[in-house]
Amino acid sequence: MCELFDDNRAILSLDRIDPKYRPVWEHLAPEHWQALADYFLPHRSAKSLLAPTRPRVIKWYCPFACQKVFASGHRYCINIYTGCQHGCVYCYAAAYQPANAGVKASFEKLLGLDLADLERFAVPPAPVHISNSTDPFQPLELQFGYTRLALEQILRHRHRFTTVTILTKNPLFAARCDYLDLFRRLADIPKPSDRHPGLTIEVSLAFLQEAARKVYDPAAPSVAERMEGIRLLHGAGIPVVLRIDPLFPRSPITESKDVKDFDLPEAQTLDDLDTLVAFAKENGVRHIVYSPAKLVQSRSRPMSDTMHKLKTLYQAYAAPEKLTWQSGSWRLPHAIAMQKIVTPFLALCQTRNIEAKFCKQNLLDTR
Ligand code: SF4
Repeated sequence: MCELFDDNRAILSLDRIDPKYRPVWEHLAPEHWQALADYFLPHRSAKSLLAPTRPRVIKWYCPFACQKVFASGHRYCINIYTGCQHGCVYCYAAAYQPANAGVKASFEKLLGLDLADLERFAVPPAPVHISNSTDPFQPLELQFGYTRLALEQILRHRHRFTTVTILTKNPLFAARCDYLDLFRRLADIPKPSDRHPGLTIEVSLAFLQEAARKVYDPAAPSVAERMEGIRLLHGAGIPVVLRIDPLFPRSPITESKDVKDFDLPEAQTLDDLDTLVAFAKENGVRHIVYSPAKLVQSRSRPMSDTMHKLKTLYQAYAAPEKLTWQSGSWRLPHAIAMQKIVTPFLALCQTRNIEAKFCKQNLLDTR
């Protein structure tokens, strides 16, 4: 049995770590357990079981995900802002993020304290994701520059991180506003590997038609702007991943109804998806990430009109089967989502000879 020490150097048995999180410890070299305990576990807690907690900004990955089914390992997430100005109707973060986007109080100071702790405890390097629940290049960045600040700080402590993954719907801003040099320096690691570049920009672009983009990603950059951003990033030598994520049901929905009969625009025809996949291939995208759309239901806010309509469409699409409820969202039965939505999409990727990864697999593959 491993023994760790809490803040007062009292013996802390590995048995005190919540079993949900123990696999993360068990996958790491024992000499690193103490550093993880010092950085992540609450000190001097009287609780019999301890779970990772970090009240500042460099957090354990996916603090909201069920670790029992989603043990993502030792990796970090920095949500630069709170909420997101892009206001995507399907955003899973809308279930727990504030309705109005804003900045975090004392962000710079708290980030500095977390980075100092990583050094103080000699925590081994791990991937960092920016950001799960907010777009780091939303309009707030122009005003506050906290993403730039975070990237500059990460660069100073580059040895504490393996890979840096940035997820955005605003690649044009990132490509034009003088971030390229920072990206290149972050990508420059001692042992670069083709499978795990030092930095990757994941661009989210699920729609080809502006009519769909305006309904589902109302305040995010246009399709053309995102495509231009991808071209510029690729041209500048920055590794890019395209997230055609989420995937929506396509017409026909039932024997007698199409998507338009639910008062919604067709989100993605197979031709639209093929054009996006071909675009990815032509522009050096490393791979594509996908997942079927979940219908998030916030505990604190009512479902939007669009989500209500989508839920009705989903129910018709799944009939006679029922939708499933999991982790705060409605989902299509797995077999239906796979057969009717995902499989034809994967066939397109195969024909275009570009790898497609389910979003969870994409995360777990990041080292
Ligand atoms: S850009 Fe991402 S975080 Fe922002 S609202 Fe859209 S899905 Fe949510």
